[in-house]
Amino acid sequence: MAGSPFDWIDEQARLREEAGLVRVLRPRPAESPLLDLAGNDYLGLTRHPEVTDAAAAAARRWGAGATGSRLVTGTTELHAELERELADFCGFEAALVLSSGYAANLAAVTALAPHGSLIVSDAGNHASLIDGCRLARGTTQVVPHTDPAAVRKALGTHEGPAVVVTDSVFSVDGDAAPLPELAAGCREAGAGLVVDDAHGLGVLGDGGRGAAYAAGLAGAADTVVTVTLSKSLGSQGGAVLGPAKVIAHLVNAARTLIFDTGLAPAAAGSALAALRLLRREPERAARARAVAATLHELLTGEGLSAVRPDAAVVSVRAPSPEAAVRWAADCRRAGLAVGCFRPPSVPDGVSRLRLTARADLSDAQVAEAVATISRTAP
Ligand code: PMP
Repeated sequence: MAGSPFDWIDEQARLREEAGLVRVLRPRPAESPLLDLAGNDYLGLTRHPEVTDAAAAAARRWGAGATGSRLVTGTTELHAELERELADFCGFEAALVLSSGYAANLAAVTALAPHGSLIVSDAGNHASLIDGCRLARGTTQVVPHTDPAAVRKALGTHEGPAVVVTDSVFSVDGDAAPLPELAAGCREAGAGLVVDDAHGLGVLGDGGRGAAYAAGLAGAADTVVTVTLSKSLGSQGGAVLGPAKVIAHLVNAARTLIFDTGLAPAAAGSALAALRLLRREPERAARARAVAATLHELLTGEGLSAVRPDAAVVSVRAPSPEAAVRWAADCRRAGLAVGCFRPPSVPDGVSRLRLTARADLSDAQVAEAVATISRTAP
């Protein structure tokens, strides 16, 4: 009998198995006994009663699902309010909520890079920006990581529309993009700047207004910011912020807005509640940054190679992909959940443990986490 049409998968599976790099989905218990430095709940808001109550209230009032795309039946008052308040908080004219940060990046990059345009993309960008570049009609030029001179050079050779796309804080190492220099290069060349602030919103800038705000780019006519609602805001979903005419263009041109069901009301409602909490309690942003700085200091003190954090992500270098996987598993057995980045998520040679500095971690928990990481180090 002929084999299955998917037999070609077997060889890939075997190689993955041999390398000890098989990924599995592990359901997380609701009440985990682990100390969690793996999630992206930077401000500790995902279980805040105001946030979860808002999710329940929104589902009761509007239903469990959005029922249709944003352009048909999927826009509720909650979506509109969230857009107004997000734009206002971050200092932009308008905002557009999508069903994820991934969808927001696809929307922004594809809609702003028409046929004949140039996209200049940092080599360390998140997969969702990379996929946006792949789907866009424009031509992509990848430039070395955080290299404004390379960006300027790439822009210098192009006639016609151009955008520079970059993470504000890179998700693997937690290092920041040189936004002021990139913005200056964009202005010289008349190019737009698209900043993915997934890891900056709620952490960087005055009261957590984000990396673009911190760099003085909020409200700029040539700057567009994408965010996720699933990290600092503890909910789910994404948004694009920018000039009103760009947002109106996205409503008409972005396929992940037009052909995707709108964000579930519970997610919109809980993100809105979290945003209002952040406005009321701006110290949460500073606390997340302080926890990151302490984590880095203590890890370095233990002789571990940690990258100096620019936001709430703290990355610890591992000697090999296999060692990173083992290290994360040993931490888990010792009661600590940490993220583990290794190929194919990251290039060879940059395998890491990835820690998140949550605002709601106590000093004792931070010390305990560092002790566990140090004790289990390869
Ligand atoms: N951009 C960056 C830098 C991210 O880290 C992530 C999430 N891993 C996303 C975009 C995607 O956001 P979401 O999870 O809301 O789709």
